[in-house]
Amino acid sequence: MVIRQYAVIGLGRFGTSIARRLHEAGQEVLGIDVNEERVEAAELYVTHAVVADTTEEKAISSIGIRNFDCVIVAIGNDMQASILTVMLLKDLGVKKIIAKALDKRHGQVLDKIGTDLIIYPERDMGERVANQLLSPNMLNYIELSKEYNIEEIMIPSKMAEKNLRELDIRAKYNVSAIAVVREGDIIISPSPDQIIHKGDFLVIIGNREDIAKFSSIE
Ligand code: ADP
Repeated sequence: MVIRQYAVIGLGRFGTSIARRLHEAGQEVLGIDVNEERVEAAELYVTHAVVADTTEEKAISSIGIRNFDCVIVAIGNDMQASILTVMLLKDLGVKKIIAKALDKRHGQVLDKIGTDLIIYPERDMGERVANQLLSPNMLNYIELSKEYNIEEIMIPSKMAEKNLRELDIRAKYNVSAIAVVREGDIIISPSPDQIIHKGDFLVIIGNREDIAKFSSIE
């Protein structure tokens, strides 16, 4: 895996979970927070952690932030600090900035000042939960675009014990199986002869509506 350098600004619940996961995946992570206690606690799950107020130009430029591949602004409730931080990061020429927005207006400002990706944690999580309720067979999904997803769907029982050629899901449902998940193991690019057993999950790629039809088969 390519090792990239990430900086996470704001080590609350949101920033912490991003930092922790990236670090677990072997990435280099710098954690930054104005609060000393949060920085101390972060030392267990990041590569480095520093105390800094990122709304201060001197503090942020002395960290060498522009050399990072991606900076995540996870400042929670202080909208002004979040916007100021993003502005400074832009001025310093940071390549990729991801920021958390509290609401639509905050998101619009972040967009105007050039944030590359804006996350609305509550809204996005709400949609995810609703999607899971709508497709109970679905474990996990990745949104590729507004139209296309990759989703993990349990094989409907009436389709089990057949191979992929017989199932012919591409012709019948307009979706393609890119992997099979069986008892925690993953079979990538399964061959047409691959038999799908009861309890297996198919990782499928396709249009959202086609996937929804496939996942609603009893
Ligand atoms: P969450 O909802 O993710 O738990 P919090 O509001 O608890 O959000 O966390 C945001 C973090 O951002 C806090 O730890 C806070 O100290 C930090 N923070 C706020 N302003 C700044 C700033 N100007 N510079 C650096 N860190 C900041």
